[in-house]
Amino acid sequence: MADFSLNEDQVQIQKWIHGFAEDVIRPVAHEWDEREEFPYPVVEEAAKIGLYGWEFMMNAFSDNSGLTLPVAIEELFWGDAGIGMAIMGSALAAAGISGNGTPEQVMEWVPQCYGDANKVQLGAFCVSEPDAGSDVSSLRTRAVYDEANDEWVLNGTKAWITNGGIADVHVVVAAVDPELKGRGQASFIVPPGTKGLSQGQKYLKHGIRASHTAEVVLDDVRVPGRCLLGGKEKLDAKLARARDAGRSGEKQPAMATFEATRPSVGAQALGIARAAYEYALDYAKERKAFGKPIVQHQAIAFKLANMATEIDAARLLVWRAAWLARNGGFSNGEGSMSKYKASEVAVRVTEDAIQILGGYGYTREYPVERWHRDAKIHTIFEGTSEIQQLVIARAISGMRIE
Ligand SMILES: Cc1cc2nc3c(=O)[nH]c(=O)nc-3n(C[C@H](O)[C@H](O)[C@H](O)COP(=O)(O)OP(=O)(O)OC[C@H]3O[C@@H](n4cnc5c(N)ncnc54)[C@H](O)[C@@H]3O)c2cc1C
Repeated sequence: MADFSLNEDQVQIQKWIHGFAEDVIRPVAHEWDEREEFPYPVVEEAAKIGLYGWEFMMNAFSDNSGLTLPVAIEELFWGDAGIGMAIMGSALAAAGISGNGTPEQVMEWVPQCYGDANKVQLGAFCVSEPDAGSDVSSLRTRAVYDEANDEWVLNGTKAWITNGGIADVHVVVAAVDPELKGRGQASFIVPPGTKGLSQGQKYLKHGIRASHTAEVVLDDVRVPGRCLLGGKEKLDAKLARARDAGRSGEKQPAMATFEATRPSVGAQALGIARAAYEYALDYAKERKAFGKPIVQHQAIAFKLANMATEIDAARLLVWRAAWLARNGGFSNGEGSMSKYKASEVAVRVTEDAIQILGGYGYTREYPVERWHRDAKIHTIFEGTSEIQQLVIARAISGMRIE
């Protein structure tokens, strides 16, 4: 049975990250949002204290209760979501490697997604393409095996990639046999400095502006055979099974990664929602209108009551999903439920926070408008809200729903 009381280690981690978020991240959050650049100095600070690093991520991933990661992420994103993404962005690449690689590949490449306190490195997980976002089974990026040289040749363009082009390690999902759709895909490591990989356009975004998002162009990128995650034998067996089955199934490497990371994305949204709720509550106790603090007007008080209730409901779903991911797995789309609920709650709560602050809330002098912009991405990336609904609907009905 799930037990949601945090153990001593988890409480310590929660306090430790909260302190970093409050003392280091919050004071510079506005500045990095305005600069719209990757906040290297802050990530370096996080690396110095061991918060940005593969050991921390591996410890958090291996916690049997599953709760360490969402607890940590909520505090980080409470500090700031753009900087939070800059610190967490490499984790998606690490999850892609851990989910699909051999133990040797995990040990070789995950540490390189982080580097160390003296030289911070980054990872990027490259799935989405200009014509394939939600529909990840239709990737056009091709991987062709050059048997004579035992190399894979990658060609294509990836879109919307967090840390794209500035990362040291790019994990690229590509079609080996496009006819097999999702089951004909595989993941490849593109090591640092590989020729042919370049950054395309950098996107200017609505929110999480301190996180770098860009196109990644793969032009005859050659990687050694050992960079195929999981190895050739396993891929050949998978392709043979898919061909025998004579149909194009749904399972593909990117989906496995996204399923596992959904509660973490929900936790990111929770952090933003909690920041906005706490700020709005404090403000409502101070700000007076019609002779009393606005919190004493029922319209504002009820809004705050709903915000608190929705945040707690979302956290319960996130923690349940994180626990299930480590203890038995999802059976009714619980991972999607957690991400769907928490991201929609974050958008709503941050909007309500602007409303509670009135005109001040609409200005960039106050953080709530930034939190609202930051919250919105959570209903879009790692599966839009509609795609989460699709996953849940399929799980509960057992029927094909398009
Ligand atoms: C800031 C940012 C960072 C990102 N980081 C990464 C990253 O690191 N790696 C990566 O690979 N990708 C990344 N993405 C890409 C992101 O995952 C995609 O944008 C997302 O999956 C949606 O794909 P799309 O943009 O192509 O939208 P589309 O798939 O074109 O969807 C458009 C609309 O149609 C809806 N829709 C589509 N299909 C259906 C359906 N079957 N039923 C109902 N509605 C449907 C969608 O919900 C959406 O509302 C990032 C995106 C952003 C904006």
